Amino acid sequence: MNPPRVLFLPAVLLPPRSMDCLGDVVQESEVVTPWGTVGPIALRERDGVGVYVLPYSGHPTRLDPRGTMWAAKSLGVQRVLIWERVVGLDEHLQRGDMVVPTDYIDWTKRLPTTLFTDRGAGYLSQVPPFCPETHGIVKDHLARVGVEPREGVYLGVDGPRRETPAEARMYRLWGAHVLGMNVIPEVVFAKELELCYGVLATVTEVAADRPQPAPQGEVREVLRKVLDVLPHIVEDLSRTPHCHCGESQAAARARGILPDDWRQWVPT
Ligand SMILES: [Zn+2]
Repeated sequence: MNPPRVLFLPAVLLPPRSMDCLGDVVQESEVVTPWGTVGPIALRERDGVGVYVLPYSGHPTRLDPRGTMWAAKSLGVQRVLIWERVVGLDEHLQRGDMVVPTDYIDWTKRLPTTLFTDRGAGYLSQVPPFCPETHGIVKDHLARVGVEPREGVYLGVDGPRRETPAEARMYRLWGAHVLGMNVIPEVVFAKELELCYGVLATVTEVAADRPQPAPQGEVREVLRKVLDVLPHIVEDLSRTPHCHCGESQAAARARGILPDDWRQWVPT
């Protein structure tokens, strides 16, 4: 098995043993970070491709997002993909729709905004907001099972709390299409650690100010389709070496905004 290059963060409610589609667990590890121990992180292997898997969600025991990304870097991961359940703010989004966001709005209030406090990393460019190569691979594979994900703006909040109708209207006026609790600030830390970060989102609820249709199994149906292609997504993410998102980080390193070696700037 080649060294695993992908960390997969399932943050959707899946049937038991769903992750078996990524292969058997060959190892479980815990990673000590400056923000506590992260894990157990499962290493799964299928057809010679290894992937780290860490269940992830926005409930009160959420892992420290700094620790998660630090652990990913420690394990030698190059790409992080989260599969998250989100609230559909946009009026065209229904339960069971898939979204691959193109941009984000950070409306978190209590979470840190940089790993490297007082080191200037806070000025790191956020363009592109998410890894375009990762999203391209995700979209290609979803198309094979007839799923055409929407694009849009992801709005991240601390949670765990559902939005009020007034908040939903406000977020929509801001241009947000979906609301979630697990992507920000992780995507920012990923950039600081020169990791690719991608988001695959499933709409499981519609916003509080919209009509609430009765569930008809549409979420379960799309989850199954995504699980069908998930191993192929992970395989392609593991085997596609080139990615452009490291270029802005390399430029930032040249300007001293990022350290030459990520371990140099150990946070206090
Ligand atoms: Zn990338």
